[in-house]
Amino acid sequence: MSKPKVAFYWCASCGGCEETVVDLAEDILGVVEKVDIVLWPVAMDFKYKDIEAMPDKSIAATLLNGAIRTTEQEEMAHLLRRKSVYLIAYGACAHLGGIPGLANQFTREHMLKFNYEDCPTMVNEQKTRPQLKFTEQGREPVLPELHNVVRALDQVVDVDYYVPGCPPTPALTKAAVTALLEGKLPPKGSVIAPDVALCDECPRKATKPSNISFTEFKRPHQVLMDPGLCFLAQGIVCMGPSTRSGCEAACTVGGMPCTGCFGPTSRVRDQGLKIMSSLCANVAPKEEAGIDQVLAGIPDPIGTFYRYGLPKSMLRRKVNMPK
Ligand code: SF4
Ligand code: SF4
Ligand code: SF4
Repeated sequence: MSKPKVAFYWCASCGGCEETVVDLAEDILGVVEKVDIVLWPVAMDFKYKDIEAMPDKSIAATLLNGAIRTTEQEEMAHLLRRKSVYLIAYGACAHLGGIPGLANQFTREHMLKFNYEDCPTMVNEQKTRPQLKFTEQGREPVLPELHNVVRALDQVVDVDYYVPGCPPTPALTKAAVTALLEGKLPPKGSVIAPDVALCDECPRKATKPSNISFTEFKRPHQVLMDPGLCFLAQGIVCMGPSTRSGCEAACTVGGMPCTGCFGPTSRVRDQGLKIMSSLCANVAPKEEAGIDQVLAGIPDPIGTFYRYGLPKSMLRRKVNMPK
């Protein structure tokens, strides 16, 4: 009997999600035994034309990580959607837009100009920028074009499941792959992680204040943090209350506040707004100058509250821009 075909693909990605697949360690051998990998650009040399030649829906599942930023990534998302029974958004960038999605604060022109012309460490007197086409030795390579915005995978194609995290944990990855192989999948559209807030699995939850009045916010490097006390009780922003659990509270166990990489639970429409409304409602001063002074302790609100999910937030981007 032929084995189910599986594809791994990366788009606007840092490579960390690919590392997690490798972090399955010996478990990956069990997976490899049960499936035929037909595409995995980071590890194996397959050609796109081989995927194009496959019948539609002949790949059992594609795990796609990374956000969609370029024309090539968009084309591959459509191709893999067509060829796959299940398309899985793997990791925060595919799930929510992720760290690359923070670029939605700027236009494409702004970024190209800064990176190729204005950046203090760049020497580029000719102001040369990457060209979409050029001719060399009689050949004309074509490069993908950057879209003006970064999108999560389901803002481009239909997605069946989401594996959250930056990157997803090996345990969740194994759970998702096992569910696929055993045909024990949750309803379409599910995020494969518990649908409760991270505070639920945080060892500091007993010290989480039910009533708090913030007189200042501090960043982790500005203070000697108490290793057992809820970060909010220490005036440090922790995204735990508006973030889905499933990582075994990796950051808070390790001594750092949660920055929200698992995204929201199903009951939260906008992860950043939820935590902002709860923090801002508890700011001690009630007059504008005092409020401003407390909020000055959060110098990068988008990077703090929407670090992984700006493209999927209600804001989506800073200004309305064409694709
Ligand atoms: S989710 Fe995190 S680890 Fe995965 S590609 Fe995006 S930035 Fe990298
Ligand atoms: S707010 Fe953060 S530190 Fe406090 S209980 Fe929730 S996850 Fe833990
Ligand atoms: S604690 Fe928060 S930021 Fe850290 S891995 Fe878990 S969900 Fe992600």
